[in-house]
Amino acid sequence: MDIIKNIEQIRKDFPILEEKVHKHKLVYLDNAATTQKPWSVIKKIEEGYTHQNANVHRGVHFLSQMATEAHEDARKTVQNFLGAEHSHEIIFTRGTTESINLVAYSFGETFLKEGDEIIISEMEHHSNIVPWQLLRTRKNITIKVIPFNEKGELDLETYSSLFTERTRLVAVTHVSNVLGTINPVKEIIKTAHSHNVPVLIDGAQSVPHISVNVKDLDVDFYVFSGHKIYGPTGMGVLYGKEKWLDAMVPYQGGGEMIAQVSFENTTFNELPYKFEAGTPDFIGSTALAEAIRYVQSIGMNEIAAYETYLLNYATEKLKNLGDIRIFGTSEHKSAVISMQVGNIHHYDMGTLLDKLGIALRTGHHCAQPIMKHFGIEGTLRASFALYNTTEEIDALISGIERVKKLF
Ligand code: PMP
Repeated sequence: MDIIKNIEQIRKDFPILEEKVHKHKLVYLDNAATTQKPWSVIKKIEEGYTHQNANVHRGVHFLSQMATEAHEDARKTVQNFLGAEHSHEIIFTRGTTESINLVAYSFGETFLKEGDEIIISEMEHHSNIVPWQLLRTRKNITIKVIPFNEKGELDLETYSSLFTERTRLVAVTHVSNVLGTINPVKEIIKTAHSHNVPVLIDGAQSVPHISVNVKDLDVDFYVFSGHKIYGPTGMGVLYGKEKWLDAMVPYQGGGEMIAQVSFENTTFNELPYKFEAGTPDFIGSTALAEAIRYVQSIGMNEIAAYETYLLNYATEKLKNLGDIRIFGTSEHKSAVISMQVGNIHHYDMGTLLDKLGIALRTGHHCAQPIMKHFGIEGTLRASFALYNTTEEIDALISGIERVKKLF
């Protein structure tokens, strides 16, 4: 694998990996929460504010035109990365959460009526639960839930049985941020389409780790966050098929999203601007495009293969430690390990590992229904990225061993 050969250079691309935490070398294993940024992304942000800062779309002057061009080029980069048909199917948002709220509001207001139904799953992040509950309150709809089995795999038979003539949308995650399960979204979409029901896929944990092509998936809406793919925070994407976005009412009102405004009547701008009210994050978009170029330069299949290698290495070592329960044991798994070590509370384990410079996440990971399924309050979660190494996993293992001795 090229990443193994080039890992030293790759790690040098990420300046924060040189940091010391509590006098220890940082071991950053909280990548499902957010990823670190390569120099190219950091420099792009600096370059944007240093040489290219002017508001986009409305200016005739040089800087504004340059900023507009860079912003629209970034949209094309995202379009090509996702394999979308049109660049106007790419809507810039603040992140996965805002993208889902946008669809829940605009699709919901346009197409859902009292008594209609949507289907989500038991393994969703709160971001793909709560927006639909807000819609339920507004429209009096029903939310049906696909359960998962003990391995953390969706029960597709039950899924098929949830459809009725009132089903209007399916919204599921591609990869679980707790269980790591890579869901068979192509099959899920096919089933929904056989009932003429569109599908939203939450790609927050998939886009940074595996190759995604929205045309191949034939997905109706696909969402992800910039900060989880080595890009800037506060920057996200909603991909939507033109036919849906065109028909949907706007999400927010303001500048940019209008064609013409009067006190009597206002008309809306064309796609994508209809969904981008206000000044967009035109520096963030160019930095996101830079992050996409970074992962493309390594290759998504290469990244997926390397992270699977890390996942297998870590899983094996953790199992050898004994007295560890891993939540999420699907064969189709991304590099996320949620666990319980003996009787040690995840919070204590996380706090003591931090003292050794090892950053993991503890708690419910914004997925409380998963915790309820297993009858637990939270887990200790290690999640990997392309810059992690087997040496870092060894450091985690010896860290856990040290903490275990304390208890
Ligand atoms: N969905 C999933 C599966 C996630 O892992 C996350 C982030 N943990 C989100 C949605 C929300 O992403 P953001 O906070 O960037 O909007």
